[in-house]
Amino acid sequence: MQVAKSIMVKVSKKVNRDKFLSLRNFFNTYQTIARLYYSYILENSLEEKLCSGEITSKDLKNLLHQKLYRQIKESFDIGSQTVQEIRDVVVEAINSYAQLIRKGKKASLPKVEEFTVRVNYPRVVSVFEQGKKFDFFFKVKVNGDKRITIPIECGKMQKQLLKDALNGEYKIGAFQLIRRDDWFYFSIPIKKEVEIKQTYDGIIGVDLGLRYNAIITLLYKNGKITKVEFLKYRKLMHKIRMLWHRIDELKSMLPEGQRTSKRIQKLWKRIRRMNDWIAHNVSKRIVEIAKENNSIIAMENLKRLYPVKGKNLRKNNRRISNWIRGKVVKYTIYKAKWEGIRVKLVSPKNTSKTCHLCGSQGLRINATFFCEHCKHTYNADFNASANIGIRATLPNVKGCVNHPLGLMAYKAPCNSWE
Ligand SMILES: [Zn+2]
Repeated sequence: MQVAKSIMVKVSKKVNRDKFLSLRNFFNTYQTIARLYYSYILENSLEEKLCSGEITSKDLKNLLHQKLYRQIKESFDIGSQTVQEIRDVVVEAINSYAQLIRKGKKASLPKVEEFTVRVNYPRVVSVFEQGKKFDFFFKVKVNGDKRITIPIECGKMQKQLLKDALNGEYKIGAFQLIRRDDWFYFSIPIKKEVEIKQTYDGIIGVDLGLRYNAIITLLYKNGKITKVEFLKYRKLMHKIRMLWHRIDELKSMLPEGQRTSKRIQKLWKRIRRMNDWIAHNVSKRIVEIAKENNSIIAMENLKRLYPVKGKNLRKNNRRISNWIRGKVVKYTIYKAKWEGIRVKLVSPKNTSKTCHLCGSQGLRINATFFCEHCKHTYNADFNASANIGIRATLPNVKGCVNHPLGLMAYKAPCNSWE
């Protein structure tokens, strides 16, 4: 199975001003040319022809080449490889729109403001690793066929990944130059062939809760719980709740008929970034523990989210955590795949009501779970995460929901770990 991910690196703030301007200039020229192609398509209703199937995307590429290539080469001082790349990016954007339309789905034309800036590796951008001051240098062919050397900074993990990629461990795709908050980043797609592991020593039950972002329980193959970890980003969650609250306030002050404002959208963007940060860190830790203990990962299947009830603030809490939980599942699956680790999604039904030890129904009051049968009290989220782990080891995930099986009665059949 082929897995892919991308490495994000940042142009160093110590970059020389002229080089920064050249890079920005290149970015802007790229956008201008993309808009030229794009408006040519719209002016000649070529997108309609693509939707109706009158022409293919290959025809469109050829047509644009014939009509505009020479003109663009004369007006802009930019490499031919890049001109072709721009044309392809625009055609691909239009084509994915056309495909949706052909399937009868709702779709809107790609946004004109910003097209993906794809730079061919290694022809337009190449990578050097030298010196101690910067992680890498990227040599980019910008306007006027000039090559500029840009200092790059990145995280430790990104650095290792890119080094490994350069050493041939992964396939490297076309780089993307990204502008965000008036600064530049590169995104580097990498691919590798992965085989999902067949045998494991344990299972990790993950409960994604409201009180904690995640509770991770390691159930070893001898049937014993050997590790429990609680992950919580209290301060950040608080910040998100405050921002959310602020959005509600701003919304109530909007003039009638208006649903959002620039300020509200800015706040949304901040929330999204924080959510992403939490989800990335939680999923990273889950996969780390699974890797260290050679374990499968078991999580709730979040297809059915719980109904929203209660007051506004509580409702918001639930919405925020549902949003993050969805992301955690998504990121965990893709991070686990990269490591060749299996993720099993189980039904969350009754996982918080069942005693993980004896399997009988118990009482959950806020953060505690009390089992009347074995007279034990547990942390409710821990109990749920243990149940999720146990459930994933049972052969028929759906069928066992109504026939709970606690750890006491549980004898790990060897093959359930495979
Ligand atoms: Zn019990």
